[in-house]
Amino acid sequence: MSPPEEPAVEQVDVAANLAAVLAAIAAAAVAAGREPEDAALVAVSKTQSAAAILPAIQAGQRRFGENRVQEAQGKWPALKAAHNDLRLHLIGPLQTNKVRDAVALFDVIETVDRPKLARALAREMDKQGRRLDCFIQVNTGEEEQKAGVWPEQVDDFIALARDELGLSVRGLMCIPPVDEECSLHFALLRQIAQRNGLGELSMGMSADYEVAIQFGATLVRVGTAIFGARKPYP
Ligand SMILES: *Cc1c(COP(=O)(O)O)cnc(C)c1O
Repeated sequence: MSPPEEPAVEQVDVAANLAAVLAAIAAAAVAAGREPEDAALVAVSKTQSAAAILPAIQAGQRRFGENRVQEAQGKWPALKAAHNDLRLHLIGPLQTNKVRDAVALFDVIETVDRPKLARALAREMDKQGRRLDCFIQVNTGEEEQKAGVWPEQVDDFIALARDELGLSVRGLMCIPPVDEECSLHFALLRQIAQRNGLGELSMGMSADYEVAIQFGATLVRVGTAIFGARKPYP
């Protein structure tokens, strides 16, 4: 009798997935009357190993997103040492006690969402002499459990972060509620950015990045469509 078969291991072709996502991004931009390169891809590599990430780097992808400072510290210093033009985005919540490590490792912080954090980032960037690009995370769905500045407070918060503290605020970021029409949230984010003179919009994930591009996204954050399904965090 032949031995039982090994359980099937899901084979993910990262390079092929990446190429397909990049083509879809360019097509969505053109369909929206924009230039094909107007929306950049942040490849979200949370929970993925360095071995899984490497094919994306080798295929030319340069922007990556991670949710957790400590997890990123485990894999990115070596990858960044080998590829000096990588841009690492923090897209998860940042605790003030991790600000020093975050400023040292990341290039963009997309989740600035409260005065205490904005002040800590400004101080730490001065100290390290590193000026990271920042995005203000907006809680467009006004969800109690979710991070982000609420829409009615965001103008004041942008003024604090950008004008008073001198952070390099490039734009806004949002994660729409799972059970709502994402386009309403994308439109709201765009409206807030326009009235505050901010040019960048980080919005859209695997399920809705094409819609986000239609609504003006300049960065889309895509994980599953490139790297396959994630194991959940323990
Ligand atoms: C995980 C994550 C993504 C990517 O989500 P996918 O559905 O896997 O594309 C994007 N943005 C944030 C903030 C995330 O936490």
